[in-house]
Amino acid sequence: MSLPMIPYGRQWIEEDDVAAVVDVLRGDWLTTGPTVAAFEQAFAQAVGAKEAVAVNSGTAALHAAMAVLGIQPGDEVIVPALTFAATANAVVYCGGTPVFADVDPRTLCVDPEQITRLVTPKTKAMAAVDYAGLLCDYDRLGQVAQAFGLKIVADACHALGARSGAGDAHADADLSTFSFHPVKHIATGEGGMITTANTEWARIMRSFRNHGITTDHRQREAAGSWFYEMTLLGFNYRLTDFQCALGMSQLKKLPRWVARRHAIATQYQQAFADLETLELQANPGPMERHAYHLFVVLLRLDRLKADRQTIFKELRDQGIGVNVHYVPVYWHPYYRQRFGHDKGLCPHAEAAYERLLTLPMYPKLTDAEVERVIVTVRQVLRRHAR
Ligand SMILES: *Cc1c(COP(=O)(O)O)cnc(C)c1O
Repeated sequence: MSLPMIPYGRQWIEEDDVAAVVDVLRGDWLTTGPTVAAFEQAFAQAVGAKEAVAVNSGTAALHAAMAVLGIQPGDEVIVPALTFAATANAVVYCGGTPVFADVDPRTLCVDPEQITRLVTPKTKAMAAVDYAGLLCDYDRLGQVAQAFGLKIVADACHALGARSGAGDAHADADLSTFSFHPVKHIATGEGGMITTANTEWARIMRSFRNHGITTDHRQREAAGSWFYEMTLLGFNYRLTDFQCALGMSQLKKLPRWVARRHAIATQYQQAFADLETLELQANPGPMERHAYHLFVVLLRLDRLKADRQTIFKELRDQGIGVNVHYVPVYWHPYYRQRFGHDKGLCPHAEAAYERLLTLPMYPKLTDAEVERVIVTVRQVLRRHAR
């Protein structure tokens, strides 16, 4: 009999989370109610940001961020090659062109020096992705942004709970986006958030998530008025009140869950330290700069007789739900066809992609499961070592 599959990530819903949702379901507001603002305030406080705007996915958060920056046809936005497609897609939604930057081969976060080489008079912004949860080098990115007059959108979908000293870890970004998909740090089913210090942008994004209408249903009801105006082309990107209730309940657990992710990461790091067939993602700073949404390892293919596919399959066959994050975005057929990209554009991202494996990492993972992952990975790699 085979052991149950340990996934690479999953949510943790407890009875108090269920109770928080049920409470709102029994109330008056399923959507556009008071729990939305309450979640926004709790989230802003938790990350140390001035404003937080709730939307119904991390992708919607990225779209709102690109839209509020006024990205439009003719504009270029620099995006790292090693990310989820949504980072680049948000630029395309606005009619802009994503320009792919290579990553640092050690940290796998965007290399600031690559960005300086890609800037043209059309470049308006850069998207910085905190790959796997490791904060980008925002000091350096901030210098680059200032030198070239660019805005920074932090795609922080992996990095909720990452810390860089006191205050907002993303203070150097103009806008930061988060996701509440079940594999991320906190779950609302689908959901997302944008944080910013810019109150005017926050106001515009609250309109953007509601069709571009100036007042919402509750405000109109309070004013006893039927009149509203649509002032920009918005979308229905609203997050429901019961999802916000779940988000607030989950958010309380974030510090404890990030600590658990750190403990698991330490277990993995110690267990794999002596392996010559593996490399780990470098974190040049203190551990809290990494929120460990993902725990990724890089296979030393030169020291292995098998390729990533073989090792991936053997681990899956033994119930270790490994994954791969990510195919370089411009390799996807849509990007190749639409923008004419070819292989070779970002060599570090491409080389990393061939060697990457994501191991199970989520707070509910037990010590016994972590041990099972470690033992299995070591066995499979030993079998294929040169
Ligand atoms: C999850 C994720 C997104 C998209 O978030 P959704 O909530 O799934 O829309 C965007 N960027 C990155 C880097 C992500 O990991």
